[in-house]
Amino acid sequence: RGNFVPPIKSNGGNVGNVTSRAGKCDDALEDSTKRCLEMLCGPDGELPEKLRNLEPRLIEHISNEIMDRDPNVRWHDIAGLEHAKKCVTEMVIWPLLRPDIFKGCRSPGRGLLLFGPPGTGKTMIGKAIAGEAKATFFYISASSLTSKWIGEGEKLVRALFGVACCRQPAVIFVDEIDSLLSQRKSEGEHESSRRLKTQFLIEMEGFDSGSEQILLIGATNRPQELDEAARRRLTKRLYIPLPSSEARAWIIRNLLEKDGLFKLSNEEIDTICNMTEGYSGSDMKNLVKDASMGPLREALTQGIEITKLKKEDMRPVILQDFENALQEVRPSVSLNELGTYEKWNKQFGSLS
Ligand code: ADP
Repeated sequence: RGNFVPPIKSNGGNVGNVTSRAGKCDDALEDSTKRCLEMLCGPDGELPEKLRNLEPRLIEHISNEIMDRDPNVRWHDIAGLEHAKKCVTEMVIWPLLRPDIFKGCRSPGRGLLLFGPPGTGKTMIGKAIAGEAKATFFYISASSLTSKWIGEGEKLVRALFGVACCRQPAVIFVDEIDSLLSQRKSEGEHESSRRLKTQFLIEMEGFDSGSEQILLIGATNRPQELDEAARRRLTKRLYIPLPSSEARAWIIRNLLEKDGLFKLSNEEIDTICNMTEGYSGSDMKNLVKDASMGPLREALTQGIEITKLKKEDMRPVILQDFENALQEVRPSVSLNELGTYEKWNKQFGSLS
């Protein structure tokens, strides 16, 4: 199957007509793979040039596991981060929506780096960009390329960029990009990871010079590990910090309101915010989850059986639940780490 070149013609979506380079029907392909390839065919029923030398199973993996046609995150789902939202709207969303205006002097950079502590909304921003710009979203974790796809990472990267090219406008989100483009080139560096890195940079170079509407977003918690070549290609570098007190309040209110559990006063919310300095967005989510278990635990200790428990038997979530949850859910980012991000931001970040 390695040399499969699909398909020459697929008259009216007939999977039976998916053919190999030899022109014969390739019956060895699973129906799901055939369907997947057909969806990528142009109006002439042929597979785009870029995909012809790629392995069908990799194309299928990209289409089914890595591609998200309808990422359901919007700006209003993300608390705070006004600076990042403004920069990204101008740099990324407008150009994706109006490529005719954003050319020449206004042509946008094709690489964006989001860096900062874990759990601060970098992935959410990536999805929101795709959602707002009506683009196809591709999510890949760079560490999976080096661990799960050992020896095949390069091929998968080619397939990823190839499919993205056929699904424009597209946003490719590479999580933990440092593990792919790190500057550590010790003797221990594997030949395969060196090849993977080269392939990745080649692909980036390829769409950077063309007229493709593809944006690459790299996310990292370790920006200091990126090498110079990677930094150069990720032209805009945005710091995604821990949420402010207002943003933390917003996350609490939003999560509880969604479930109809919000009954806290403004003063109580302020108290919780004062106690959660240094918590990331993801820590806040875990805190709310834990606190919302409070009423349930209490009802059960009063002897009500879980199978007989009615929603009305449970009191609302109160400040005490948050105080208890704070004993369980601790902040995941240390002050020390924050200093590193701020230093890197001053040196390499896009501050305006
Ligand atoms: P990162 O990519 O920075 O590690 P994510 O975007 O995956 O973090 O965020 C993890 C979870 O934390 C999200 O699914 C969301 O529930 C919550 N979260 C983090 N930051 C925010 C934010 N700014 N606004 C709302 N929710 C957030």
